Parts: sequence; structure tokens; C-alpha cells
Amino acid sequence: MSTTIGRKGEERSYQAFEEAKKVLPGGVNSPVRAFKSVGLTPIYMDHGAGSHIYDIDGNSYIDYVGSWGPLIMGHAHPEVVKALQETAAKGTSFGAPTLLETQMARLVAERVPSIEVVRMVNSGTEATMSAIRLARGYTGRSKIMKFEGSYHGHADSLLIKAGSGVATLGLPDSPGVPESIAANTITVPYNDLESAQLAFERFGEEIAGVIVEPVAGNMGVVPPQPGFLEGLRRITTEYGSLLIFDEVMTGFRVHLHSAQGLFGITPDLTCLGKVIGGGLPVGAYGGKREIMEQIAPSGPIYQAGTLSGNPLAMIAGFTTLSLLTPEVYDRLERLSAKLQAGLEANAKEAGIPSVINRVGSMVCPFFTNEQVVNYDTAKSSDLDLFRRYFAALVQEGINIAPSQFEGMFVSGVHTDEDIDATIEAHRKALQKL
Ligand code: PLP
Repeated sequence: MSTTIGRKGEERSYQAFEEAKKVLPGGVNSPVRAFKSVGLTPIYMDHGAGSHIYDIDGNSYIDYVGSWGPLIMGHAHPEVVKALQETAAKGTSFGAPTLLETQMARLVAERVPSIEVVRMVNSGTEATMSAIRLARGYTGRSKIMKFEGSYHGHADSLLIKAGSGVATLGLPDSPGVPESIAANTITVPYNDLESAQLAFERFGEEIAGVIVEPVAGNMGVVPPQPGFLEGLRRITTEYGSLLIFDEVMTGFRVHLHSAQGLFGITPDLTCLGKVIGGGLPVGAYGGKREIMEQIAPSGPIYQAGTLSGNPLAMIAGFTTLSLLTPEVYDRLERLSAKLQAGLEANAKEAGIPSVINRVGSMVCPFFTNEQVVNYDTAKSSDLDLFRRYFAALVQEGINIAPSQFEGMFVSGVHTDEDIDATIEAHRKALQKL
């Protein structure tokens, strides 16, 4: 049985979840959607428009989930919808090259500093999984380094000490990942360059690549400390390993040129997802020509996809990226800073321990007094308080992820009024805790 918040108008969501559980595992197609960590019934959405979403019981919310990151220009953006309609009318997939794919790849290569050549796939998971295979094939090495509490999708090698839903549900390393695969994944704490250096001193000649979220977004939001990314660049170069930036969340989110543009670091490979698909299932991985040309058909490392680069996915992504001008990023920065300041002031007024981490439009309140710099400090947040906070915020009409280990995403179509209303709703929610 699921639990309701107890407010008026959640009967349909409740019924819908009961029905879904009969035919979907846990009632959902992706674990965190089940609201298990907050002990509530998930809210079934009906439609979205701009910064707002509307549930099947007729409630509306100012939305900071944005489909978990992709919707940087809000729900049902008229230009994206129009482009999708026109493209769909011409056929949704051909399994043959189209001009749109080259147009999209050119735009991505222009925007992302490290990318010369890019391969489109269908999800962030596919992007990271393929980038890892490429790193292994290119270097002839087997081991991968990742950081505790980072999430890079659900490929076997990357599900070790993972963040996101794995952290939210408090799951240990997933059953089903063979020990032989797990043994090739080295994990060290985020922002801990010394541990990374030590691991390289021990295993350096065996490490194919280091995969890192340049801003960690799956243990809440955790910015890289000064020197961390620079240090990883230096160490990987020294040992002949590839530096892989997982920009599935940060790509086109934190800066026009993604996190690598923001921090001025050039990785060897970059993984993209979320924003690049404008709300459709898209991922991509790319990098230096010399490395990317090792992928089939120009090279021997195999990776393919029936629907990869399909016209609908490409046009949704292309239209979204085209809307992302420097002015949009200025706006995102201004609104997100305003939100952060408001949340900080509310917590102070309510006397609730709170640290608000933010990079660009990724914002995350933690209920702790400790600076949150890695997974251990993220876990110092009061998770029981988060649960009550989440329920109170939903009652006030604000939609955030049902997890302490996810951030809020501000979009380019949130307005000053939305931010003011959110700060006021947050103030009221904190007063109730
Ligand atoms: N990498 C990062 C940084 C992510 O945040 C995610 C998803 O949240 C993924 C990879 C996996 O992407 P997808 O869910 O599209 O497979």
C-alpha cells in the first residue's frame, strides 16, 4: 500500500499507482518515480506547459524536476513542439542517414570544446557505457575509476557505489553485476585528489579511464573543489588514461559550452544526455577524432543503435540547443542565484540547519551544517527532515525530486514570479517542519 499526503485531490494518482503496480515492477519504469524514499504515492502527471506541470487530480505545480534535467526550456516549448510535429509528419525513423544528424553533430561539436566527432545514442546510460568500452578498447586496459555517489547510468561497470536512485533507495551494490566486472571498477571519494593519485600509483598502468561528473549531480549538487578536475586531467595524462567527463546532467545545463567550458578543462571523451535530447531519449559521446575514429565502422570497437540519431530525437535536441543563447544562461544564473538566496534566508529564519549548493541552474538544499563536498557529507543531511520537507513543499504546489540526492533544475522559462512564489512556498514549508 502506498501512503497519501492527505491533501484534497490525490485520489486519481493513488488509484493509478495501484493499477500500475499490477503490471509494472514497483509500479514504475524508473525506480525513483515510485516515491519510495519519501514514503508517499507518486503524483501522476497529465501535462506540462512552460515552468508548470499539472497532475491527473487537477493540481498544478511549479516544476523544478524538468524531467530530471532535460527540459531546460520548460515543458512543451512551442518551438520544440512545432519542430517535432513537422518532423514526425515526414516519418519517425528510417535506419538510414539523414541530414539532421550531421546538422546536430556540427552544433554539438561547435558548442562542446573537447568534441571533434560525436556519436548519437539513445540515453545517458548508453553514452557512458559506450565511452567506457571505447576507453578500454583504445588503451587496451581494463580498469575504470569512478567516484562514490556519482551516477553514470546503469551499465554494470558503473553501478558500483552509485548515486541517484541507488543512493536514494539506499541499495548496496546491485545484485546481477558479476564480481569479475565490479573488480575492474575502482571507486574513490569525490573531490579527493589524493585518493585518486594513490589509486593511480597502485593501478595506474591498468586504468583505461577516469569517469567523473564535472559537477556531481547525483548525490545532490556538489561542485568540484578548486584543483580537483585540473588534478584529474594531470594524473590521467601522466598515466596515459582517458579523462571522461560525464556531462549527461551538466552538458548545456551549467554553461553554453557545458561544464568543461565553465571550468576550462578539456577531457578526452565527453558523455551527453538529458538537455541534448530536449525531452526525447537521446545520449551522445564524443571527443578527439583520433579516439572516436576507433568506433565502428571507422575502427574496430563496436557500438550501434536501431533508433540512434532518429529524426524526432535530433530535431527536439537541435531546436532546444538553438534556443540556448548566452542570454538564457545569464537569466538562469540570475534566477538560480535569487532562488538560492531566498532558500538560505528562509532556513536561517526558521532556524533549520541548511547548506544550499549551487552551480548555475543546479540548486540543492541539504539539511546539514557541514559543507557538502562528497557523498559522505551529502549523507549527513537529515533525510527524515527531507521527507517531511518534500511532503510540505508538494502541498504548497512545488515539484522537486523526491530525493535528497537530486538537485532542483531552474529552466529558462521560469519567471521572477515563479521564483518568488517558490521562495514563499519554501518558507511556509519550513515553518511547518
Ligand atoms: N550520467 C549522469 C551524470 C546522469 O545524471 C544520468 C542520469 O541521471 C546518467 C548518466 C544516465 O542517463 P539515462 O538515465 O539517460 O540513462
